[in-house]
Amino acid sequence: NADAAMYRAKEFGRDNFQFYTPEFNSRAHEKFVLQGELRNALVRSEFSLLYQPQVDLRSGRVIAVEALIRWTHPTQGVVAPMTFIPTAEETGLIVAIGDWVLHEACRQNKAWQDAGLPRVTICVNVSARQFRERNLVSRVVNALRDSGLEARHLELEVTESLIMQDIELAVATMNELQELGVQISIDDFGTGYSSLSALKTFPVARLKIDKSFIDNVADDENDQAVVSAVISLGQKLNMRVIAEGVETEDQVAFLLKNNCDEMQGYHYSKPVSAQAIGKLLKAAAWPPVHPRPRQQ
Ligand code: C2E
Ligand code: MG
Ligand code: MG
Ligand code: MG
Repeated sequence: NADAAMYRAKEFGRDNFQFYTPEFNSRAHEKFVLQGELRNALVRSEFSLLYQPQVDLRSGRVIAVEALIRWTHPTQGVVAPMTFIPTAEETGLIVAIGDWVLHEACRQNKAWQDAGLPRVTICVNVSARQFRERNLVSRVVNALRDSGLEARHLELEVTESLIMQDIELAVATMNELQELGVQISIDDFGTGYSSLSALKTFPVARLKIDKSFIDNVADDENDQAVVSAVISLGQKLNMRVIAEGVETEDQVAFLLKNNCDEMQGYHYSKPVSAQAIGKLLKAAAWPPVHPRPRQQ
C-alpha cells in the first residue's frame, strides 16, 4: 500500500522516488513530495513572514503585530500556511520551521525598535507539536537572547485544543513562559473545547475571539451574544480580548459598543511586509475612536 511504499522509499533517501508505482495513489504521492520540498525549504530560505497589525480600539494605536508564515515554493509561488502547516506538524518539521519563525519574528521586532519606531508586541503562532517539545522554553530563551528582544515584547499564540491535550503540562509550560516575561494568548477562542474552570488558572494575557464569530456579528444575534459574553468573560478574568478577522465598520461599531479591547483584520490592514509595518508604525494613529468607560 501507499504508506508502506512511502516508508520504504524514505529508507532509500529523502529525494528518492524509485518506489513510485501507478498504485501509489496521487494524494499520498503529493504528500510525499510536499514533505521533501518542506525539508528543503528551510535550507533554501523559502520561508518568509508577513505581519498583521493589532489595534487598540480606544486609542487606535497599533499595539501588537502577528507574524504569519509564507512559503515561496520554487514553482507554485506563495503558499498559504494551511496547505503546509498540517504536513509540517505530522512530520515534526514544524519544530525547525517554528524555531526559524521565532528567531525571525524576534529579530524583526528588535529591528523595528532599533529604528526608533513605537514599541509593539510581536505575536508568534505556536503549534501543538512545537508546544509539546520539552525544550520549547529554552528555544524561546535562545530566540530572545539572539535577537536582544525583551521578553515582554514577545507573545505566543496557542489554541484551546492545544492546551486541552494536556492541561497540566500546558499550564506548567505557560507558567514558565510567563516567569520569563513572555505573554500568552489563546488563539481562535471559542472554536475549541475549553474548560471554563481551567481557563481562570491559565496565565493568559489575551483571548483572541475567532473570526467565525466576528463574520456576522453586525447582524446575527447569536454571534452578538457569544462575542459580548466572551468580552465580559475576558474582563472578569483580567484578560484582554481581541477580535480577529474584523473587516467592516459595523463590526468595529459593535466591538466598541461592547467594550472589546482590540481588533485585528482586513478592515485595518491585511498581513503586510516588515517594511510596510515600519511605515504603518510611523504614521499617525488610525481613526479617532471614542474613549469608552471601563466597566468594573
Ligand atoms: P491565525 O493564527 O488565526 O491567523 C489569522 C489568519 O486569519 C491569517 O491567515 C490572517 O491572514 C487571516 N486574517 C486576518 N484578518 C482577516 C480578515 O479580516 N479576513 C480574512 N478573510 N482573513 C483574515 P494565514 O496567514 O493564512 O494563517 C492561517 C493560519 O496558519 C493561522 O491562523 C495560524 O493558525 C497558522 N499559521 C500562520 N503562521 C504560522 C506560523 O508561523 N506557525 C504556525 N505554527 N502556524 C502558523
Ligand atoms: Mg494566530
Ligand atoms: Mg487566530
Ligand atoms: Mg484563526
